[in-house]
Amino acid sequence: MITGTSLSKTYGDRTALDEISLSVQKGEIVGIIGPSGSGKSTLLRLLDLIETPTTGTIALDGVPVPTGRHGRLQVIRQMGMVFQRPAVFSGTVSENISAGLRFRGEEKEVIDKEVKRMLGLIRLEGYGDRIASTLSGGELQRVAIARAAVTRPVVLFMDEPTANLDPHSTAVIEDMIHHLATEEETTILLATHDMVQGQRLCDRIGVMIDGRLVQTGTPDEIFSSPATPAVATFTGIDN
Ligand code: ATP
Ligand code: MG
Repeated sequence: MITGTSLSKTYGDRTALDEISLSVQKGEIVGIIGPSGSGKSTLLRLLDLIETPTTGTIALDGVPVPTGRHGRLQVIRQMGMVFQRPAVFSGTVSENISAGLRFRGEEKEVIDKEVKRMLGLIRLEGYGDRIASTLSGGELQRVAIARAAVTRPVVLFMDEPTANLDPHSTAVIEDMIHHLATEEETTILLATHDMVQGQRLCDRIGVMIDGRLVQTGTPDEIFSSPATPAVATFTGIDN
C-alpha cells in the first residue's frame, strides 16, 4: 500500500499540486484522470520519489519514506515506473527486461526464467534477441512494462502507459496490468487520458482538476455521480 498525505508541490509561484491525500491498497488499480496540466504526472513523480513534495508525506506499507538518500533508495528499489514515452535502452530485448535482476545479482537461470515469463506476459515470445531500438513504439512500451515488473515491485507507477499506442499493444498492456494486480498483488497507480480505459481497468479513479484531487471513487461513482461541475464537464456527463 502506498499513501500520500497532504502532498503539495509548487514550482516558483505556481501550485502544481494542492494538498493531495491518496492511498492505493495492495493489489488495487487506481487511475488518475484529469485535464492536461491538472497535475497527474506531478503526483506520480512525487509518489515514486523522483521529486520531493514541497509539503506532505509519503508512506509505503505504513512506513514513512526516510529522508536520507540511502533510506530513500531502499524504498525506490521496491517501486517500478513506466513513463509515457518508453526510453530506448541499447542492447537486446532480453537485456532490457533483465536489467533490474542483473543489478540485483540474480543467477542466470533465474534471469532466463523470469525473462521468458515476462516475454510471455507481453506477448513478445521470440523477441528476446531482437535489438530493442528496432521495435515498434507499442512493442517497446510492452518491454518497458516488463522491465519495470520483472523485479516484482510492491508498487508500480505508470504515466499514461498506453497513450498513442495501437489497439493490440493497448490490450496486451491492459491484460498485463490486470494480471499484475490480481495475480501478483502489485499495487498500481496509473495516469490515463483514456476514460474508457479508466472504467475498464481501474478499481478506483481519482479525478484531478487544477492541482486538486476533487473526487475519488469507483468508475461507476465517478461517471454516474460527478462531485463537481468540473468533473462532470471533464467526464463528458453533461455533454
Ligand atoms: P498532461 O495530461 O498534459 O500530461 P498532467 O496532468 O500530467 O498533464 P503535470 O505535468 O503534472 O500535468 O503538470 C501540472 C502543472 O505543473 C502544469 O501547469 C505544469 O506546467 C507544471 N509543472 C510540472 N512540472 C514542472 C516543472 N518542473 N517546472 C515548472 N512547472 C512544472
Ligand atoms: Mg502528464
